[in-house]
Amino acid sequence: NTPLHELDPDVAAAVDAELRRQQSTLEMIASENFAPVAVMEAQGSVLTNKYAEGYPGRRYYGGCEHVDVAEQIAIDRIKDLFGAEYANVQPHSGASANQAALFAIAQPGDTILGLDLAHGGHLTHGMRLNFSGKQFNVVAYHVDEHGLVDMAEVERLAKEHRPKVIIAGWSAYPRQLDFAEFRRIADEVEAYLWVDMAHFAGLVAAGLHPNPVEYADVVTSTTHKTLGGPRGGIILAKKEFAKKLNSSVFPGFQGGPLEHVIAAKAVSFKVAASEEFKERQQRTLDGARIIAERLVQDDVKQHGVSVLSGGTDVHLLLVDLRNSELDGQQAEDRLHEVGITVNRNAVPNDPRPPMVTSGLRIGTPALATRGFDAEDFREVADVIAETLKPGFDAEALKARVTALADKHPLYPGLK
Ligand code: PLP
Repeated sequence: NTPLHELDPDVAAAVDAELRRQQSTLEMIASENFAPVAVMEAQGSVLTNKYAEGYPGRRYYGGCEHVDVAEQIAIDRIKDLFGAEYANVQPHSGASANQAALFAIAQPGDTILGLDLAHGGHLTHGMRLNFSGKQFNVVAYHVDEHGLVDMAEVERLAKEHRPKVIIAGWSAYPRQLDFAEFRRIADEVEAYLWVDMAHFAGLVAAGLHPNPVEYADVVTSTTHKTLGGPRGGIILAKKEFAKKLNSSVFPGFQGGPLEHVIAAKAVSFKVAASEEFKERQQRTLDGARIIAERLVQDDVKQHGVSVLSGGTDVHLLLVDLRNSELDGQQAEDRLHEVGITVNRNAVPNDPRPPMVTSGLRIGTPALATRGFDAEDFREVADVIAETLKPGFDAEALKARVTALADKHPLYPGLK
């Protein structure tokens, strides 16, 4: 029963330093969030000790009566939250959920149609080095010159290649997808429609984004982005896919489920059904819009900074630096210097190499969870704008970041 700080001071020091980093800087990586203490408590519980291969009520191990309760609660809550007929809460991550989902509805060698990685898609939607790109015949669609998914191209490619699966979802796209149109095209070519809502699931749960469950055959998600839970994945689907999806997750790709994470997912799904969560997602959206509006003002525009698609409808915005002397790497480093964490991101038709890029992806979920409101986001927006201009004053900007971090203490009870 030796506590971590005594048993392993080296690892404890890294954990402590990470807590201090999260508390003292502004986390604006669009795929990150802060899980509630109660979620981390469930995740750090004795459930980590339990083997439970199988599903609630049908396990291959004894002693599953309590983890069955937690897993069933998670299943029931997530079905309710999104109005789904079926849910699997066992995928260890978003990528695991996607792998299990894809192999349940398609065979290796089948054609899949997804958004190009360089245009905002995810690795698991057909990237060359990913299982999806290695084992499936990938056709990619793109965004048009306005930065919007080109639905005419989706339809043309679908008719030409007759994919088994059409994937609607993204990791870096600032607008909503037209699920009804994706459904129409999928029906026309007799493809399955798979929506990966990893990024925007929290917005859907709050009723602030169209719900893909109404349109798709299969919907996957992570639980740790806008949804605000522990790191993990889920699959939702129509009932008819239940058997195939269950067996694809276990025994297809996974062994024992992470019941401690599943319990933590259950807790986060309870939070996601609350009024507080809805209000937080609204602040998330407002924050992203406020920052996008600031970064199209003349004082930054004259230095070649712009915003892809001109704005945002979701929790992130994409800064376009193709006309700026500053590249993605330099912009990321500058923001890091003043205490703001973002990631550089390739923009469509990026002239700079992938390790440098000409863009930034900036997200507001973590700051909204921290309590930031419109006034705070206006200050954040101004700090970002000033940082991206030549001759920026790092010390002064860092002081403004520290003031914002101090105004909204993170995990005040944790040491
Ligand atoms: N799907 C999308 C759209 C994502 O953006 C991500 C993560 O960035 C994933 C899946 C994969 O999630 P994970 O990192 O948990 O494997």
